[in-house]
Amino acid sequence: MAKPQDKELLCLDYGKCIGCGRCFEHAAFSQAERVAGCGVSRQELLRYFDCERGAEVEVRPSAPEVRQEIFQMLGRALNVRELDAGSCNGCEAEIAALTNPYYDLERFGIHFVASPKHADMLLVTGPVTRNMAVAVKKTYEATPAPKLVVAVGACGCSGGIFATSHAVSGPLDKLLRVDAYIPGCPPTPAMLLTGILEVLRRTAKR
Ligand code: SF4
Repeated sequence: MAKPQDKELLCLDYGKCIGCGRCFEHAAFSQAERVAGCGVSRQELLRYFDCERGAEVEVRPSAPEVRQEIFQMLGRALNVRELDAGSCNGCEAEIAALTNPYYDLERFGIHFVASPKHADMLLVTGPVTRNMAVAVKKTYEATPAPKLVVAVGACGCSGGIFATSHAVSGPLDKLLRVDAYIPGCPPTPAMLLTGILEVLRRTAKR
Protein backbone atom coordinates (compact mmCIF):
# COMPACT_ATOMS: atom_id res chain seq x y z
CA MET A 1 0.00 0.00 0.00
CA ALA A 2 1.50 3.35 -1.00
CA LYS A 3 1.50 6.07 1.61
CA PRO A 4 -1.35 8.52 1.07
CA GLN A 5 0.18 11.98 0.47
CA ASP A 6 -2.59 14.48 1.21
CA LYS A 7 -2.65 14.65 5.03
CA GLU A 8 -0.91 13.75 8.26
CA LEU A 9 -1.63 10.13 9.07
CA LEU A 10 -0.74 7.77 11.86
CA CYS A 11 1.44 4.92 10.56
CA LEU A 12 1.55 1.51 12.22
CA ASP A 13 4.21 -1.01 11.18
CA TYR A 14 2.68 -4.48 11.53
CA GLY A 15 6.06 -5.99 10.77
CA LYS A 16 7.13 -4.89 14.25
CA CYS A 17 3.84 -5.69 16.01
CA ILE A 18 4.09 -8.07 18.97
CA GLY A 19 0.35 -8.00 19.65
CA CYS A 20 0.39 -6.03 22.92
CA GLY A 21 -2.96 -4.49 21.93
CA ARG A 22 -2.19 -0.99 23.22
CA CYS A 23 -2.88 0.55 19.81
CA PHE A 24 -6.55 -0.36 20.22
CA GLU A 25 -6.80 2.11 23.10
CA HIS A 26 -6.61 4.76 20.38
CA ALA A 27 -9.93 5.60 18.71
CA ALA A 28 -8.35 5.54 15.25
CA PHE A 29 -8.01 1.77 15.45
CA SER A 30 -11.59 1.01 16.45
CA GLN A 31 -12.64 0.10 12.92
CA ALA A 32 -9.37 -1.45 11.82
CA GLU A 33 -8.93 -5.11 11.15
CA ARG A 34 -6.86 -6.65 13.89
CA VAL A 35 -5.07 -8.94 11.49
CA ALA A 36 -2.76 -7.28 9.02
CA GLY A 37 -2.39 -8.58 5.48
CA CYS A 38 -0.45 -11.85 5.42
CA GLY A 39 1.94 -13.07 2.75
CA VAL A 40 2.40 -9.55 1.44
CA SER A 41 5.41 -7.32 0.76
CA ARG A 42 7.23 -5.59 3.64
CA GLN A 43 5.89 -2.22 2.48
CA GLU A 44 2.32 -3.47 2.72
CA LEU A 45 2.75 -4.15 6.43
CA LEU A 46 2.76 -0.37 6.93
CA ARG A 47 -0.83 0.71 7.50
CA TYR A 48 -2.16 4.26 7.75
CA PHE A 49 -4.88 5.62 10.00
CA ASP A 50 -6.79 8.87 9.77
CA CYS A 51 -7.16 10.04 13.38
CA GLU A 52 -9.76 12.70 12.49
CA ARG A 53 -12.07 10.16 10.85
CA GLY A 54 -11.18 7.42 13.33
CA ALA A 55 -10.64 4.89 10.54
CA GLU A 56 -8.02 3.19 8.44
CA VAL A 57 -7.29 5.01 5.19
CA GLU A 58 -7.43 1.93 2.99
CA VAL A 59 -9.23 -1.09 4.41
CA ARG A 60 -8.11 -4.44 3.03
CA PRO A 61 -10.55 -6.91 1.50
CA SER A 62 -11.28 -9.86 3.74
CA ALA A 63 -9.14 -12.96 3.33
CA PRO A 64 -10.42 -15.36 0.67
CA GLU A 65 -11.59 -18.82 1.55
CA VAL A 66 -8.39 -20.80 1.84
CA ARG A 67 -9.45 -24.24 0.75
CA GLN A 68 -11.09 -23.06 -2.48
CA GLU A 69 -8.12 -20.87 -3.42
CA ILE A 70 -5.56 -23.61 -2.83
CA PHE A 71 -7.41 -26.13 -4.96
CA GLN A 72 -7.77 -23.62 -7.78
CA MET A 73 -4.09 -22.74 -7.88
CA LEU A 74 -2.17 -25.94 -7.17
CA GLY A 75 -1.92 -28.83 -9.53
CA ARG A 76 0.04 -30.71 -6.89
CA ALA A 77 0.97 -30.44 -3.26
CA LEU A 78 2.98 -27.47 -2.02
CA ASN A 79 6.04 -28.66 -0.11
CA VAL A 80 7.17 -26.44 2.74
CA ARG A 81 10.37 -26.57 4.77
CA GLU A 82 10.11 -24.81 8.14
CA LEU A 83 13.36 -23.14 9.22
CA ASP A 84 13.90 -21.90 12.77
CA ALA A 85 16.45 -19.07 12.62
CA GLY A 86 16.52 -18.29 16.33
CA SER A 87 12.84 -18.20 17.23
CA CYS A 88 11.53 -18.28 20.82
CA ASN A 89 9.48 -21.29 19.65
CA GLY A 90 6.21 -19.36 19.80
CA CYS A 91 5.92 -19.30 16.01
CA GLU A 92 6.80 -23.01 15.87
CA ALA A 93 3.93 -23.81 18.25
CA GLU A 94 1.49 -22.11 15.85
CA ILE A 95 3.04 -23.74 12.80
CA ALA A 96 2.83 -27.14 14.51
CA ALA A 97 -0.85 -26.46 15.18
CA LEU A 98 -1.42 -26.37 11.43
CA THR A 99 -0.92 -30.13 11.35
CA ASN A 100 -3.32 -31.00 14.17
CA PRO A 101 -6.75 -32.52 13.40
CA TYR A 102 -8.47 -29.12 13.73
CA TYR A 103 -6.50 -27.24 11.04
CA ASP A 104 -5.43 -30.40 9.20
CA LEU A 105 -3.09 -28.65 6.78
CA GLU A 106 -2.65 -31.69 4.56
CA ARG A 107 -6.24 -31.48 3.33
CA PHE A 108 -5.25 -28.28 1.48
CA GLY A 109 -2.44 -30.07 -0.35
CA ILE A 110 0.29 -28.44 1.73
CA HIS A 111 2.97 -30.69 3.23
CA PHE A 112 5.91 -30.06 5.52
CA VAL A 113 9.06 -31.77 4.32
CA ALA A 114 12.24 -32.69 6.19
CA SER A 115 14.74 -31.42 3.63
CA PRO A 116 15.06 -28.12 1.75
CA LYS A 117 15.90 -30.23 -1.32
CA HIS A 118 12.24 -31.28 -1.45
CA ALA A 119 10.77 -27.86 -0.70
CA ASP A 120 9.03 -25.24 -2.86
CA MET A 121 8.81 -22.79 0.02
CA LEU A 122 10.89 -21.91 3.09
CA LEU A 123 8.90 -20.73 6.08
CA VAL A 124 11.46 -18.88 8.20
CA THR A 125 10.91 -17.90 11.84
CA GLY A 126 13.13 -15.98 14.23
CA PRO A 127 15.26 -12.85 13.85
CA VAL A 128 18.18 -14.80 12.26
CA THR A 129 20.74 -15.06 15.01
CA ARG A 130 24.42 -14.88 14.15
CA ASN A 131 24.74 -18.60 14.84
CA MET A 132 21.99 -19.37 12.32
CA ALA A 133 22.99 -16.98 9.52
CA VAL A 134 25.19 -19.48 7.66
CA ALA A 135 22.61 -22.26 8.07
CA VAL A 136 19.92 -19.99 6.62
CA LYS A 137 22.02 -19.25 3.54
CA LYS A 138 22.94 -22.90 3.04
CA THR A 139 19.32 -23.96 3.38
CA TYR A 140 18.33 -21.40 0.75
CA GLU A 141 21.06 -22.62 -1.61
CA ALA A 142 19.86 -26.22 -1.20
CA THR A 143 16.28 -25.34 -2.11
CA PRO A 144 15.23 -25.83 -5.77
CA ALA A 145 13.14 -23.32 -7.76
CA PRO A 146 10.75 -21.61 -7.20
CA LYS A 147 12.59 -21.06 -3.85
CA LEU A 148 9.78 -19.07 -2.25
CA VAL A 149 10.90 -17.45 1.00
CA VAL A 150 8.35 -16.36 3.58
CA ALA A 151 9.30 -14.43 6.72
CA VAL A 152 7.12 -15.50 9.64
CA GLY A 153 6.27 -13.47 12.74
CA ALA A 154 7.48 -10.10 13.93
CA CYS A 155 10.97 -11.58 14.28
CA GLY A 156 11.01 -12.80 10.69
CA CYS A 157 9.58 -9.51 9.38
CA SER A 158 11.68 -7.01 11.32
CA GLY A 159 13.71 -8.81 14.01
CA GLY A 160 10.84 -8.15 16.42
CA ILE A 161 11.84 -7.69 20.06
CA PHE A 162 15.32 -9.05 19.28
CA ALA A 163 16.05 -6.62 16.44
CA THR A 164 18.70 -4.61 18.30
CA SER A 165 20.47 -7.56 19.92
CA HIS A 166 24.21 -7.97 19.25
CA ALA A 167 23.50 -11.68 18.67
CA VAL A 168 21.24 -11.02 15.65
CA SER A 169 22.35 -10.82 12.00
CA GLY A 170 18.85 -10.36 10.59
CA PRO A 171 16.13 -9.58 9.89
CA LEU A 172 15.78 -12.17 7.18
CA ASP A 173 15.54 -9.71 4.29
CA LYS A 174 19.05 -8.48 5.08
CA LEU A 175 20.34 -11.93 4.09
CA LEU A 176 17.90 -13.25 1.48
CA ARG A 177 15.33 -12.07 -1.05
CA VAL A 178 12.03 -12.47 0.79
CA ASP A 179 8.88 -13.08 -1.25
CA ALA A 180 6.34 -12.33 1.45
CA TYR A 181 5.82 -11.53 5.12
CA ILE A 182 3.41 -12.96 7.67
CA PRO A 183 3.25 -10.66 10.70
CA GLY A 184 2.18 -11.46 14.26
CA CYS A 185 3.84 -12.47 17.49
CA PRO A 186 3.11 -15.22 16.87
CA PRO A 187 0.85 -15.37 13.80
CA THR A 188 -2.17 -17.61 14.32
CA PRO A 189 -2.58 -20.78 12.24
CA ALA A 190 -5.30 -18.98 10.25
CA MET A 191 -2.90 -16.11 9.48
CA LEU A 192 -0.25 -18.63 8.39
CA LEU A 193 -2.67 -20.36 6.05
CA THR A 194 -3.86 -17.06 4.60
CA GLY A 195 -0.28 -15.89 4.16
CA ILE A 196 0.80 -19.05 2.34
CA LEU A 197 -2.20 -18.71 0.05
CA GLU A 198 -1.40 -15.09 -0.72
CA VAL A 199 2.21 -15.95 -1.61
CA LEU A 200 0.99 -18.60 -4.04
CA ARG A 201 -1.47 -16.22 -5.63
CA ARG A 202 1.14 -13.51 -6.17
CA THR A 203 3.64 -16.03 -7.51
CA ALA A 204 1.08 -17.40 -9.96
CA LYS A 205 0.53 -13.86 -11.34
CA ARG A 206 4.24 -13.34 -12.07
S1 SF4 B 1 7.56 -13.41 16.40
FE1 SF4 B 1 7.07 -13.58 18.60
S2 SF4 B 1 6.42 -15.73 18.85
FE2 SF4 B 1 7.53 -15.62 16.88
S3 SF4 B 1 9.67 -16.11 17.38
FE3 SF4 B 1 9.48 -13.87 17.52
S4 SF4 B 1 9.05 -13.45 19.70
FE4 SF4 B 1 8.63 -15.64 19.34
